[in-house]
Amino acid sequence: MDRAAELKHHWLAVHNRIESASASVGRNPDTVTCLAVSKTKPLSDIEHLFAAGQRAFGENYVQEAVEKITAFTGKGVAWHFIGAIQSNKTQVIAQHFDWVHTIDRAKIAHRLNDARSGNPLNVLIQVNVDQAPSKAGVLPEALDALVDEILKCPNLQLHGLMSIPDPVNDTALQRAHQDLHALFTKTRAGLKDPTHFDTLSMGMTHDLELAIAEGSTLVRIGTALFGARSPKETV
Ligand SMILES: *Cc1c(COP(=O)(O)O)cnc(C)c1O
Repeated sequence: MDRAAELKHHWLAVHNRIESASASVGRNPDTVTCLAVSKTKPLSDIEHLFAAGQRAFGENYVQEAVEKITAFTGKGVAWHFIGAIQSNKTQVIAQHFDWVHTIDRAKIAHRLNDARSGNPLNVLIQVNVDQAPSKAGVLPEALDALVDEILKCPNLQLHGLMSIPDPVNDTALQRAHQDLHALFTKTRAGLKDPTHFDTLSMGMTHDLELAIAEGSTLVRIGTALFGARSPKETV
């Protein structure tokens, strides 16, 4: 199979997984967005998936992402930043991306807000659901305060929450997804205007079914679409 046919085949398989996972819990599959995680993958792969119908791509590294984003200007692709945010990269991120999933502190929110012009940047808060000290993400007990800070930022539109739980085993993953969903529901209930608070970014190649069963509205898929990353390419 050539690469275009291979990617199309993967794309259909992932959409079938999303459809059956949704059907088995009585959800409409249209309520689940598939984000194609294209980090380390060449522009040609993105072009093939675009031809297959994919319109949302996720990137972790600012520099390689900007080249890809620039190549797709005006084509109706939504670009999501899903990597760790260094403060010296906030300017470039705010200028090029449509979405950012990984805000975990007020300083980063304010820097993105200051650097954004035009339509607001769509943002999610990354939550450290495992509560491991060394991990990225805001701790659940500090979530409300960060929500309040982001609501003060006119150039950011807060859409929801995101997590990257450790893949210890399926029981632990399921619990992490339930915890994030509970935090999402609680946060939403506390908002004056919850209209835009509509996105729960959880689930990757291994656990997309589990995540959809627990209410995910956006799954971030790398391996199942593009194939395995070589070890030096991992996250
Ligand atoms: C790499 C990455 C993914 C994709 O993971 P796969 O297991 O390859 O599907 C999803 N989310 C984030 C934040 C990532 O860095």
